[in-house]
Amino acid sequence: MITANENYNKLNASYLFADIAKRVQLYQESNPDKEVIRLGIGDVTLPLPPAVIQGFKRGVDEMSQDATFRGYGPEQGYLFLRQAIAAVDFQSRGADIDADEIFVSDGAKCDTGNFQELFSNNITIAIPDPVYPVYLDTNVMAGRTGGFKDGRYQGIVYMDCLKEKAFMPDLPDAPVDLIYLCFPNNPTGATATRDQLAAWVDYARENKALILFDAAYEAFIRDENLPRSIYEIPGAKEVAVEFRSLSKTAGFTGTRCGFTVVPKACMIYTANGSKLSLHDMWNRRQSTKFNGVSYPVQKAAEAVYSQEGQAQIKANIDYYLANARVVRQTMTELGFDHVGGENAPYIWIDGNGRDSWEFFDLLLDKAGVVCTPGQGFGRCGAQYIRISAFNSPENVAKAMARVKDVLKKR
Ligand SMILES: *Cc1c(COP(=O)(O)O)cnc(C)c1O
Repeated sequence: MITANENYNKLNASYLFADIAKRVQLYQESNPDKEVIRLGIGDVTLPLPPAVIQGFKRGVDEMSQDATFRGYGPEQGYLFLRQAIAAVDFQSRGADIDADEIFVSDGAKCDTGNFQELFSNNITIAIPDPVYPVYLDTNVMAGRTGGFKDGRYQGIVYMDCLKEKAFMPDLPDAPVDLIYLCFPNNPTGATATRDQLAAWVDYARENKALILFDAAYEAFIRDENLPRSIYEIPGAKEVAVEFRSLSKTAGFTGTRCGFTVVPKACMIYTANGSKLSLHDMWNRRQSTKFNGVSYPVQKAAEAVYSQEGQAQIKANIDYYLANARVVRQTMTELGFDHVGGENAPYIWIDGNGRDSWEFFDLLLDKAGVVCTPGQGFGRCGAQYIRISAFNSPENVAKAMARVKDVLKKR
């Protein structure tokens, strides 16, 4: 008899996006003449920049010629791309990361989800609340948690991210082995200072713990004092893995390319305390289960790191950040506390005691505006909504005018 991995039955059936879609459809059916504006999605809206398209096309052309055709590439990614990443994203910022420490992949969702395979099943895991659900669900699937009860999985150390602490989790009071962090944060848009990250690095070093640092939104950082990589913090190379993605950085959500940095100095331990190289383990895992990213996509990714590419992606991100500014201004005028939107595409809005689904329904029914209810990201999000800046300035202006009309009257 073929039996199931019953850990899947523990998964809290996430109806979040299906539930949102259902409510939006219902609204549209009863208001066929109203135009819905979607500020809920975490997906880019601008097309790939011209430099990236040129790189992409060059890659495709090479695939059409005998002399330049390529079959299987290196599982780690082509050296031309890893060298460009190491130079532009790390070495230029004083982070001593080598091309050999970079693993190119088809995105950060897979890597953040797959990485937990390298750990034993009896580690203690600390996960923020609210959170990008992938970190949690992949550990549930692997059997590292108990059942789902009162909005939480048993056996996970949840780190509450609260308004009074600027949505920065506290260091756990009991030792943990694995820590997931994401800055700039999805869903809150909160950022971490150098000192705050240094405290986590110190904690990990003292506890022989590992930090999985998701930097999918680092390109949105405009405050030059904020670190863009955890490797800007001394000592981080020994205790942190960093995930990056070209999805939000360069519009690659449909093109698919990201990478993970696993420094050679990063160690993990056997049950009796001997050191193992995490880099070697991830290399083994990727070479066994992954066959690399398509060559034209890696050429497109390489173009992101050219001078024109960097200027073009910066302009695209500025476009989204200008939208975020309009959302923030509106919320300030209306008296709703919020964070994010300055160095991140998301604005996390306190509903002033309103339940997140109630706030969602109000904005949909009265303004035709779709946001994301905070509850979907964890218990601590129950009284917040997330508004995304991924849309056109025209739509954002229209949406905010409607939201003003609705919320002013209350
Ligand atoms: C969008 C996002 C990613 C990127 O996922 P890809 O698979 O690279 O598209 C990773 N982490 C977070 C928190 C995200 O919001």
